[in-house]
Amino acid sequence: MLQLQDPSLLRPSCYLDGAWVAADDGSTIAVTNPATGQTIAQVPRCGAAEAERAIAAAEQALAPWRDTTAAQRSRILRRWFELMLAHQDDLAAIMTAEQGKPLAEARGEIAYAASYIEWFAEEAKRAYGEVIPSPAQDRQIVVTRESIGVCAAITPWNFPSAMITRKVAPALAAGCTIVVKPAEQTPLSALALAELAERAGVPAGVLNVITGQASAIGGVMTASPTVRKLSFTGSTPVGQLLMQQCAGTVKKLSLELGGNAPFIVFDDADVDAAVAGALASKYRNAGQTCVCSNRFLVQAGVYDRFAQKLAEAVACLPVGNGMDAGVAQGPLIDQAALHKVEALVQDALAHGARIATGGARHALGGTWYQPTVLTHVTDAMAVMREEIFGPVAPLQRFESEAEAVRLANDTPFGLAAYFFTQSHARVWRVARQLEYGIVGINTGAISTEVAPFGGVKLSGLGREGSRHGLDEYMTLKYLALGGL
Ligand code: ADP
Repeated sequence: MLQLQDPSLLRPSCYLDGAWVAADDGSTIAVTNPATGQTIAQVPRCGAAEAERAIAAAEQALAPWRDTTAAQRSRILRRWFELMLAHQDDLAAIMTAEQGKPLAEARGEIAYAASYIEWFAEEAKRAYGEVIPSPAQDRQIVVTRESIGVCAAITPWNFPSAMITRKVAPALAAGCTIVVKPAEQTPLSALALAELAERAGVPAGVLNVITGQASAIGGVMTASPTVRKLSFTGSTPVGQLLMQQCAGTVKKLSLELGGNAPFIVFDDADVDAAVAGALASKYRNAGQTCVCSNRFLVQAGVYDRFAQKLAEAVACLPVGNGMDAGVAQGPLIDQAALHKVEALVQDALAHGARIATGGARHALGGTWYQPTVLTHVTDAMAVMREEIFGPVAPLQRFESEAEAVRLANDTPFGLAAYFFTQSHARVWRVARQLEYGIVGINTGAISTEVAPFGGVKLSGLGREGSRHGLDEYMTLKYLALGGL
């Protein structure tokens, strides 16, 4: 059983209009611990009817919430942020139990998730409009920024807290109300956040969290004329489906979808720094993040040295149950994830790749996979084309800068890219040519609430975090004042 300092944070009910409720028909979904296979809790298996009610509650709550001052909303958000930090250990334990990531990473995610609430508590007060010089003397042109209205959010399991606060905090800061459907694998982190939001003073109906049948709930959210904005983080096929479903009501959309991040190491790179960056960007969350480097492009002059150093470092990563001290890599989320990683590695080996370290399931069994480095990889292999979402680094050799840029851009995705070089001119040259929303240069750590996160091409639309993150939940109104 999960031991918490505050057991009331484990909430196996949906949060709808300020009440904790079961599914109408009483049905539930089991939440399991990927490290042990044990059931942690049963959460409601809601469907269309509950989604309709959650949207109606958000609609009811909209006018009074929108009419509060920015300072009032800011103070409530600030309390929510403080409560998250006060309960960081419990929230991290819940996350590790349902998601599998090491406890230290889970604590880090709670701080990171909370940072979005702090940031947007501050940004709420800065939703400035503008006055535009008028083309006529008897006119004044004023632009205001207003809350877009009722919003919906659908979130994934890899960052069970941060993917929610990135959406909910700017929505609430902007004066919107919202209905959230968390991933079925990780609903308990979402429900714990709702519990703390309630304690912070978020009024009934302003934030609603419903768990259950994804396509039924998503269908209602996207078809509803009341919902004016959908924010989704997840796979590209589901994002495309939701985009189609939103066409009928012409909703504003934020989509944060799949990636295929290249990690380029040039001959003039600091190889030790590149290895550290590779470890940070590839093996965090067992490789299950949308900005994880997916394919490594390494210039011929440093290929062997980089491969050897990376393989040595990767072979030392402690693998185990995320709850245990010192563990750097937990299990994969489920059997399907394990099978995908296994198939991609097998395919690469069949086509001539070689194992530098790892390359198979871990002796722990379950859904653990060994931290892996593959060499002699080519861009014809599936492992370089598909999002691996596992702890596998495939290394391809290249000769020239132009070849590296061509290979890096040869994908329909465009979320994150990384490169390592000590040449000042190359930094700017390559950064300019990469068709990506985020570029990490001499660093594998790119995520922060102060910067705009998001992609181009099939990786999505819109930005989360930074001052731009608030715009996603606002609309411009132009006032033409005549007869002055
Ligand atoms: P992943 O591969 O990370 O699970 P998905 O895109 O399948 O990515 O899931 C991300 C989120 O989208 C989850 O909350 C999931 O329940 C939800 N989802 C999946 N299919 C649908 C759908 N047809 N309609 C609405 N939401 C969906």
